[in-house]
Amino acid sequence: MDLRSVFAYPKTRHILRHGPRGYTICRQFKPWLRDDFGFRCIYCLRRERWMGGGHSDFSVEPIPRDIEPRLTFEFSNLRYACSRCNSIRQDRRTIDPCDEPLSNHLNIRQDGHIEGLTPDGVAHIKVLRLDHPALTEYRARFIRAVGLLEAKGAWAEINAWLGYPDDLPNLAALKTDAETGDVLLKEYVVRAKRRVPKNKTAASADL
Ligand SMILES: [Zn+2]
Repeated sequence: MDLRSVFAYPKTRHILRHGPRGYTICRQFKPWLRDDFGFRCIYCLRRERWMGGGHSDFSVEPIPRDIEPRLTFEFSNLRYACSRCNSIRQDRRTIDPCDEPLSNHLNIRQDGHIEGLTPDGVAHIKVLRLDHPALTEYRARFIRAVGLLEAKGAWAEINAWLGYPDDLPNLAALKTDAETGDVLLKEYVVRAKRRVPKNKTAASADL
Protein backbone atom coordinates (compact mmCIF):
# COMPACT_ATOMS: atom_id res chain seq x y z
CA MET A 1 0.00 0.00 0.00
CA ASP A 2 1.37 3.38 -0.98
CA LEU A 3 0.59 5.70 1.90
CA ARG A 4 1.50 8.69 -0.23
CA SER A 5 -1.69 8.00 -2.14
CA VAL A 6 -3.97 8.82 0.79
CA PHE A 7 -4.66 12.26 -0.65
CA ALA A 8 -3.02 12.03 -4.07
CA TYR A 9 -5.10 12.84 -7.11
CA PRO A 10 -4.89 10.33 -9.97
CA LYS A 11 -1.95 10.73 -12.31
CA THR A 12 -3.89 9.30 -15.20
CA ARG A 13 -7.29 9.91 -16.71
CA HIS A 14 -9.89 7.61 -15.21
CA ILE A 15 -10.93 4.91 -17.65
CA LEU A 16 -14.27 3.44 -16.77
CA ARG A 17 -14.05 -0.32 -16.29
CA HIS A 18 -17.77 -0.94 -16.22
CA GLY A 19 -20.62 -0.02 -18.54
CA PRO A 20 -23.85 -1.48 -17.19
CA ARG A 21 -27.06 -0.82 -19.08
CA GLY A 22 -30.71 -1.55 -18.55
CA TYR A 23 -31.39 0.58 -15.48
CA THR A 24 -33.97 3.33 -15.17
CA ILE A 25 -33.05 4.81 -11.79
CA CYS A 26 -29.76 6.57 -11.09
CA ARG A 27 -29.11 4.77 -7.81
CA GLN A 28 -29.15 1.42 -9.60
CA PHE A 29 -25.77 2.38 -11.02
CA LYS A 30 -24.33 3.08 -7.57
CA PRO A 31 -22.76 -0.36 -6.90
CA TRP A 32 -21.00 -0.16 -10.28
CA LEU A 33 -19.79 3.37 -9.62
CA ARG A 34 -18.54 2.47 -6.15
CA ASP A 35 -16.37 -0.21 -7.65
CA ASP A 36 -15.30 1.82 -10.67
CA PHE A 37 -14.16 4.83 -8.65
CA GLY A 38 -12.45 2.92 -5.85
CA PHE A 39 -15.05 3.58 -3.15
CA ARG A 40 -14.00 7.20 -2.73
CA CYS A 41 -15.13 10.66 -3.73
CA ILE A 42 -13.64 11.84 -7.02
CA TYR A 43 -13.46 15.41 -5.68
CA CYS A 44 -12.27 15.40 -2.06
CA LEU A 45 -10.79 11.86 -2.14
CA ARG A 46 -12.47 10.89 1.11
CA ARG A 47 -13.28 7.20 1.25
CA GLU A 48 -16.39 5.30 2.20
CA ARG A 49 -14.51 3.84 5.15
CA TRP A 50 -13.96 7.31 6.57
CA MET A 51 -17.64 8.15 6.63
CA GLY A 52 -19.97 7.06 9.38
CA GLY A 53 -22.60 6.06 6.88
CA GLY A 54 -20.30 4.34 4.40
CA HIS A 55 -21.69 4.46 0.88
CA SER A 56 -24.91 6.05 2.11
CA ASP A 57 -22.86 9.24 2.49
CA PHE A 58 -22.14 9.11 -1.24
CA SER A 59 -24.36 9.75 -4.21
CA VAL A 60 -24.54 9.33 -7.94
CA GLU A 61 -24.67 12.41 -10.12
CA PRO A 62 -24.70 12.97 -13.87
CA ILE A 63 -21.92 15.22 -15.16
CA PRO A 64 -22.79 17.82 -16.20
CA ARG A 65 -26.47 18.15 -15.38
CA ASP A 66 -27.41 20.17 -18.45
CA ILE A 67 -27.03 17.19 -20.71
CA GLU A 68 -29.72 15.74 -22.85
CA PRO A 69 -32.22 13.92 -20.60
CA ARG A 70 -31.76 10.72 -22.56
CA LEU A 71 -28.12 10.59 -21.42
CA THR A 72 -28.93 10.87 -17.71
CA PHE A 73 -28.92 7.12 -17.33
CA GLU A 74 -25.81 6.50 -19.38
CA PHE A 75 -23.17 5.02 -17.09
CA SER A 76 -20.43 6.94 -18.88
CA ASN A 77 -22.07 10.17 -17.75
CA LEU A 78 -22.21 9.30 -14.06
CA ARG A 79 -19.64 9.94 -11.36
CA TYR A 80 -19.23 8.91 -7.72
CA ALA A 81 -18.84 11.59 -5.08
CA CYS A 82 -19.61 12.23 -1.44
CA SER A 83 -22.84 13.97 -0.59
CA ARG A 84 -20.96 17.07 0.57
CA CYS A 85 -19.18 17.59 -2.74
CA ASN A 86 -22.25 16.74 -4.80
CA SER A 87 -24.44 19.19 -2.88
CA ILE A 88 -21.86 21.97 -3.16
CA ARG A 89 -21.18 21.41 -6.85
CA GLN A 90 -24.84 21.40 -7.85
CA ASP A 91 -24.88 22.03 -11.62
CA ARG A 92 -21.57 23.83 -11.88
CA ARG A 93 -18.84 22.46 -14.07
CA THR A 94 -15.65 21.05 -12.60
CA ILE A 95 -12.73 19.10 -13.99
CA ASP A 96 -13.87 15.64 -14.94
CA PRO A 97 -11.36 12.93 -13.91
CA CYS A 98 -12.49 10.93 -16.93
CA ASP A 99 -11.36 13.75 -19.21
CA GLU A 100 -7.91 14.40 -17.77
CA PRO A 101 -5.68 13.52 -14.81
CA LEU A 102 -6.65 15.57 -11.78
CA SER A 103 -3.02 15.60 -10.61
CA ASN A 104 -2.28 17.93 -13.52
CA HIS A 105 -4.44 20.52 -11.83
CA LEU A 106 -4.49 19.75 -8.11
CA ASN A 107 -2.04 18.93 -5.36
CA ILE A 108 -2.59 18.24 -1.67
CA ARG A 109 0.41 18.97 0.51
CA GLN A 110 1.38 17.02 3.58
CA ASP A 111 0.09 19.89 5.77
CA GLY A 112 -3.39 19.29 4.34
CA HIS A 113 -3.52 22.38 2.14
CA ILE A 114 -4.72 21.97 -1.42
CA GLU A 115 -3.26 24.02 -4.23
CA GLY A 116 -4.43 24.63 -7.76
CA LEU A 117 -1.68 24.03 -10.31
CA THR A 118 -3.62 25.54 -13.21
CA PRO A 119 -6.40 28.11 -13.60
CA ASP A 120 -8.85 25.22 -14.03
CA GLY A 121 -7.51 23.66 -10.85
CA VAL A 122 -7.99 26.91 -8.93
CA ALA A 123 -11.55 27.18 -10.24
CA HIS A 124 -12.21 23.53 -9.35
CA ILE A 125 -11.10 24.15 -5.76
CA LYS A 126 -13.24 27.26 -5.52
CA VAL A 127 -16.40 25.61 -6.84
CA LEU A 128 -16.09 22.64 -4.50
CA ARG A 129 -14.66 24.63 -1.56
CA LEU A 130 -11.89 22.10 -1.26
CA ASP A 131 -9.79 24.69 0.57
CA HIS A 132 -12.32 25.09 3.37
CA PRO A 133 -10.39 25.32 6.68
CA ALA A 134 -12.33 22.41 8.19
CA LEU A 135 -11.52 20.17 5.22
CA THR A 136 -7.88 21.30 5.24
CA GLU A 137 -7.59 20.46 8.95
CA TYR A 138 -9.33 17.13 8.36
CA ARG A 139 -6.73 16.19 5.73
CA ALA A 140 -3.86 17.37 7.91
CA ARG A 141 -5.04 15.32 10.88
CA PHE A 142 -5.59 12.27 8.73
CA ILE A 143 -2.15 12.49 7.13
CA ARG A 144 -0.54 12.92 10.56
CA ALA A 145 -2.49 9.96 11.96
CA VAL A 146 -1.50 7.69 9.09
CA GLY A 147 2.13 8.79 9.54
CA LEU A 148 2.01 7.86 13.23
CA LEU A 149 0.46 4.49 12.47
CA GLU A 150 3.09 3.87 9.82
CA ALA A 151 5.88 4.72 12.30
CA LYS A 152 4.42 2.20 14.72
CA GLY A 153 4.05 -0.41 12.00
CA ALA A 154 0.32 -0.65 12.71
CA TRP A 155 -0.46 -2.06 9.29
CA ALA A 156 -3.72 -3.73 10.27
CA GLU A 157 -5.04 -0.40 11.51
CA ILE A 158 -3.79 1.40 8.41
CA ASN A 159 -5.48 -1.17 6.24
CA ALA A 160 -8.70 -0.70 8.20
CA TRP A 161 -8.68 2.98 7.20
CA LEU A 162 -7.35 2.71 3.67
CA GLY A 163 -8.67 -0.63 2.52
CA TYR A 164 -11.87 -1.51 0.75
CA PRO A 165 -15.16 -1.35 2.63
CA ASP A 166 -16.57 -4.51 4.16
CA ASP A 167 -19.74 -4.34 2.10
CA LEU A 168 -18.26 -4.78 -1.36
CA PRO A 169 -20.99 -4.97 -3.98
CA ASN A 170 -21.59 -8.29 -5.67
CA LEU A 171 -21.75 -6.93 -9.20
CA ALA A 172 -22.32 -10.34 -10.77
CA ALA A 173 -25.58 -10.69 -8.83
CA LEU A 174 -27.07 -7.36 -9.89
CA LYS A 175 -30.00 -7.51 -12.25
CA THR A 176 -31.24 -5.09 -14.88
CA ASP A 177 -34.83 -3.91 -14.89
CA ALA A 178 -35.66 -6.41 -17.62
CA GLU A 179 -34.10 -9.25 -15.65
CA THR A 180 -35.83 -8.18 -12.45
CA GLY A 181 -39.15 -7.99 -14.28
CA ASP A 182 -38.52 -11.43 -15.64
CA VAL A 183 -37.83 -12.72 -12.15
CA LEU A 184 -40.98 -11.10 -10.80
CA LEU A 185 -43.01 -12.61 -13.61
CA LYS A 186 -41.65 -16.08 -12.87
CA GLU A 187 -42.43 -15.65 -9.18
CA TYR A 188 -45.97 -14.59 -10.08
CA VAL A 189 -46.46 -17.67 -12.24
CA VAL A 190 -45.19 -19.96 -9.49
CA ARG A 191 -47.54 -18.37 -6.97
CA ALA A 192 -50.44 -18.56 -9.41
CA LYS A 193 -49.84 -22.27 -10.01
CA ARG A 194 -49.93 -22.90 -6.27
CA ARG A 195 -53.42 -21.39 -6.18
CA VAL A 196 -54.73 -23.44 -9.14
CA PRO A 197 -57.17 -26.27 -8.25
CA LYS A 198 -56.05 -29.69 -9.46
CA ASN A 199 -58.71 -29.85 -12.20
CA LYS A 200 -57.79 -26.42 -13.75
CA THR A 201 -54.87 -25.12 -15.70
CA ALA A 202 -52.95 -22.00 -14.68
CA ALA A 203 -54.32 -20.14 -17.69
CA SER A 204 -57.98 -20.83 -16.93
CA ALA A 205 -57.49 -20.03 -13.24
CA ASP A 206 -56.34 -16.53 -14.11
CA LEU A 207 -59.54 -15.72 -16.06
ZN1 LIG B 1 -16.20 14.67 -1.62
